[in-house]
Amino acid sequence: MAAERADAAPLRPIGLLGGTFDPIHLGHLRLAEEARETLALECVRLIPAGRPPHRGEPGSTADDRLAMAHLATAGNPGLEIDDGEVRARQKSYTVPTLERLRAELGPRRPLVLILGADAFEGLPGWHRWQELFALTHIAIANRPGYAPHARRWPATLSPELAALCQDRHTSDPADLRAAPAGRVIPFDMTPLAISASLIRDLIGHGHSARYLLPDSVLDYIGAHGLYR
Ligand code: ATP
Repeated sequence: MAAERADAAPLRPIGLLGGTFDPIHLGHLRLAEEARETLALECVRLIPAGRPPHRGEPGSTADDRLAMAHLATAGNPGLEIDDGEVRARQKSYTVPTLERLRAELGPRRPLVLILGADAFEGLPGWHRWQELFALTHIAIANRPGYAPHARRWPATLSPELAALCQDRHTSDPADLRAAPAGRVIPFDMTPLAISASLIRDLIGHGHSARYLLPDSVLDYIGAHGLYR
């Protein structure tokens, strides 16, 4: 009986944050940290893409982006790095990554895919995107310059995506513990108008990017001559 009860105890959700992280910056780190707290996640796994399918070649190698992600999260036990997509070397698609994590973490563990509002709106362009909902919950954070999703879906959202999200919507993080996958939860984070492209642009033009990303990452960029 005791074993049965232990088996039935709710598992804390694990957050997943994929990205190119070219380079990782304070927008990514606050997104992960605020999602972890607001949604009561056990931890957030950051998953650098090896070869991102939706954009040109990144400005730095997958190994550099992985190294910078490790530097940025050092000392925070709530943030982990998953190097599965970097090691795979083929194009990084989220559904196969989620299938791998589902196999690793088991069918009962709630997973929460964390997306900025821009990434969420781009979802209908993703490989096998309709299959996401069977594998994970989705949490959507506001991002400056993109329509907020806090109260209702913006008009800019694809009608197919809006329809799929309609019955899945919740604003209660407890719902994420009640099932392993399938809910959609918008949440507010401190708005930070920081992007990796802004940082690459600043460095490329010889300007300072200090205080937009951790010093350890900026030092790495300088030492390896990235984005010049
Ligand atoms: P780029 O400028 O090169 O397109 P990016 O800064 O958008 O890069 P990505 O690695 O593409 O960074 O983003 C990974 C995830 O982090 C995406 O879900 C994105 O929406 C989210 N994200 C990135 N920056 C922010 C930010 N400042 N606020 C909220 N979400 C963010």
